[in-house]
Amino acid sequence: MTDCIFCGIINKQSPGELEYEDAAIAAFNDINPKAKVHILIVPKKHISSVTELEESDVELVGRMVMVAKKLAEDKGIADDGYRLIFNAGKHSGQFVDHIHLHLMGGGPLGGMV
Ligand code: AMP
Ligand code: ZN
Repeated sequence: MTDCIFCGIINKQSPGELEYEDAAIAAFNDINPKAKVHILIVPKKHISSVTELEESDVELVGRMVMVAKKLAEDKGIADDGYRLIFNAGKHSGQFVDHIHLHLMGGGPLGGMV
């Protein structure tokens, strides 16, 4: 998808240093961090949202979670804890229509569900 900002970052058409990259997944810092550590983990394949996931994406989503776990360890926030969030659709406030997993930590995050 040519006009997708995250596809642009993945394809390195936009500035933004990748925190992680493999054949299927990339991760980069959130441009407007809401925590001391705030990284977005994305599949290289354009999928617009959790609502568009298919059974064949199960392994990919599992890999995204494992990348988040690794990055939490690499950033030194694993012991104190962190939060992983998928926003999906209008009520969640999903703003970018390329599925992304938020990794947030580095300090207390406040109460949520
Ligand atoms: P969401 O509300 O779940 O769609 O979150 C989208 C996130 O993408 C927000 O936290 C934004 O700050 C972040 N974001 C938007 N544009 C960029 C960008 N060019 N580089 C990095 N993060 C971005
Ligand atoms: Zn995209």
